Amino acid sequence: LQPEHADRIDQFGNGTGRNGSAERRGAVDRPPEPTQRRRRDPRRSEVLAERRRRPEVGPPLRCFLRHHHGELDGAAQPAVLEIETLGHLAPIVGSALNAAEEHQSAVTDAERDGLTSLLNRRRLDRDLPAVEGAPIAFAMIDVDHFKRFNDVHGHQGGDDALRTVATVLAETVRTTDVVYRYGGEEFSVLLRDTTTEQAEEVLERVRDAVETTEIYSSDGRSLGHVTISVGLVATSTEQESTSTLPDRADKALYDAKAEGRNRVVVGS
Ligand code: GH3
Ligand code: MG
Ligand code: MG
Repeated sequence: LQPEHADRIDQFGNGTGRNGSAERRGAVDRPPEPTQRRRRDPRRSEVLAERRRRPEVGPPLRCFLRHHHGELDGAAQPAVLEIETLGHLAPIVGSALNAAEEHQSAVTDAERDGLTSLLNRRRLDRDLPAVEGAPIAFAMIDVDHFKRFNDVHGHQGGDDALRTVATVLAETVRTTDVVYRYGGEEFSVLLRDTTTEQAEEVLERVRDAVETTEIYSSDGRSLGHVTISVGLVATSTEQESTSTLPDRADKALYDAKAEGRNRVVVGS
């Protein structure tokens, strides 16, 4: 454990994790709630509430670690008792931090698609409700005649094409637009604070970029090109729910296919 690790402790508030739930069950001693009489000073309850929100392990642990690594001398050294206590505490806190970081990276992995490294549908399902109330455009993208591409170039070649399309999408949208692999050969783009006209411009650029990008197999052979069809919709008022966007975009996508593929259709 290094001194800077103590900073990360502040990411984990009181009442979180295994110890937090033990604490909520009353399995761990915690300071008693202030009595009515002691609460006379209105600031006191604020201070206590803040203490419950923010663990106070960080500052003393940081002090201990700096001492341990020879960065502190003289008056700044922690008391002997603190050194002993924190010496016992440090490995426990260290392993708790590792566990928390492993948990965080497992959560991140669960929201990414393994083939393309794009965010996946699970993440989209979490992001859509979060943008409720903002003007949003949403595009559903499907690779054209992809079954045929697989038949000609094999499943491996198909995977190379999906990776290429994913890269082109991610590189062609604006930095505020988010690309997802919806599933199979389908992708989605969530465009925030965007008018339908601006979104159409972005998706038209994306469509053109995919059409003109040559696909290569992992051993360097050219596999030609693919095209995409795009269904694009937007929230018409700021109050409209975002949950209907995928279905509406899917209908527009269906029209794009029916009208001949390799095009962007704006739906209602
Ligand atoms: P359309 O233009 O109407 O979309 O025709 P399509 O052939 O693209 O549509 P269809 O839904 O019939 O075929 C989709 C194909 O995508 C079939 C499936 O095997 C392939 N596919 C889906 N996911 C993957 C994948 O991860 N890798 C590869 N290589 N192929 C995939
Ligand atoms: Mg499809
Ligand atoms: Mg398709």
